[in-house]
Amino acid sequence: GVLVGNLIGQDHANYVLMYNMLTGIRIGVSRCQAKLKRELTDADYTARHKFSFDIVGNELTPSTKYDFKFKDYAPWVFRELREYFYLDPSDYLVSLTAKYILSELGSPGKSGSFFYFSRDYRFIIKTIRHSEHKFLRSILKEYHEYIKKNPHTLLSRFYGLHRVKLPRGRKIHFVIMNNLFPPHRDIHETYDLKGSAIGRLYPEDKAQDNPRAILKDLNFVGRDRHFALGPEKKALFEEQLRRDTELMQKLGIMDYSLLTGIHNVIRGNVDNLRDGMLTVFQPDTVKMRRKPTLVKRDADATALRKAVQRSDPKALSDANKLPEQDMSERRMFLFYQDEGGMRATGPDNEDLGVIYYLGIIDILTPYTFVKRVEHFFKGFKHPRDMISAVPPKRYGDRFLSVSLSAEP
Ligand code: ATP
Ligand code: CA
Ligand code: CA
Repeated sequence: GVLVGNLIGQDHANYVLMYNMLTGIRIGVSRCQAKLKRELTDADYTARHKFSFDIVGNELTPSTKYDFKFKDYAPWVFRELREYFYLDPSDYLVSLTAKYILSELGSPGKSGSFFYFSRDYRFIIKTIRHSEHKFLRSILKEYHEYIKKNPHTLLSRFYGLHRVKLPRGRKIHFVIMNNLFPPHRDIHETYDLKGSAIGRLYPEDKAQDNPRAILKDLNFVGRDRHFALGPEKKALFEEQLRRDTELMQKLGIMDYSLLTGIHNVIRGNVDNLRDGMLTVFQPDTVKMRRKPTLVKRDADATALRKAVQRSDPKALSDANKLPEQDMSERRMFLFYQDEGGMRATGPDNEDLGVIYYLGIIDILTPYTFVKRVEHFFKGFKHPRDMISAVPPKRYGDRFLSVSLSAEP
């Protein structure tokens, strides 16, 4: 995959913050994980554990480079959630904290949240507002129960909720979640789909020079994109999407989107498929007819890539730098099991040489007073149903109708 974001070195403005976040996670998570597993109690959902770190250290906390305070929220609940998400406890800590390296994406949304990737790009740390933090705590029990019953959910996977307090008093809340996009495959097009039309166009002329542009609903429609899933996978996908959306409606959430990354197998990765190689394979070569295998992993793309590589030693050596397969927990989940995503298939389940990476993100905005006001004022200028701030029931119905009608 393509590396995104800037590595945070010692001289980076947010180095201290990163150091403190990772230290807190390392100590907090390993402390909880070291204990014997037990049943959750109601108190676990509201629990918070305080840690005070300083440069001297004591018998409870090791000495650190900086003085700061750290809070670990509902550690036992997140420990169990990580289990449902098939995360290996030591893997999780190693990925996040072994090297103290994160890369910062900066603040791609309007909200001012910052995004950080773990060294291996499996995890995202997102700083969130205090209101989002409170909201997540208030729905944690329902979220937890839902995840337990819906292992194949498309909703954001939350692995931890924490807070860092810097000496001058600034409090920074953050969540740790799954990166929907895989480290080993380039994403050729990205869409953030909400089901609303107003303000949902990324200028197409600007998109031409920016392959990383986060495109929106009207670009998706304008480019005549759709999800091709074949009958069986489509039914399963729609059912899951419907259930996930119903939960959002029940919890009064809005403003979430279906984040969609599209990987084209023929284009491959810039890192390991040189331009010259692409002409060797015509699209038809990849359209192998096959029965859908929803439980078994699918190795077609890997086989294709290997074939390409065999014919060119240079390409082969380049490819060795990338992981050959996705061996992460993703293979346990229906919609993330093909190379970490979901293979596009035609009406006869033929492989279309495209992989979708998708999930429902930004799910911590309840329909509050603020949004109601926005709805009221925007309603004067635009048809009320088309703007993005509509009540949760309406928002969910519209979100579903767009996501589901996406196939021709
Ligand atoms: P806003 O509220 O203005 O929409 P935000 O700060 O809440 O912005 P998000 O909507 O959560 O941010 O995400 C912004 C962008 O970051 C997404 O469009 C996507 O490109 C990327 N992103 C967010 N979450 C993930 C994820 N789990 N995996 C991969 N990329 C993500
Ligand atoms: Ca968003
Ligand atoms: Ca948001």
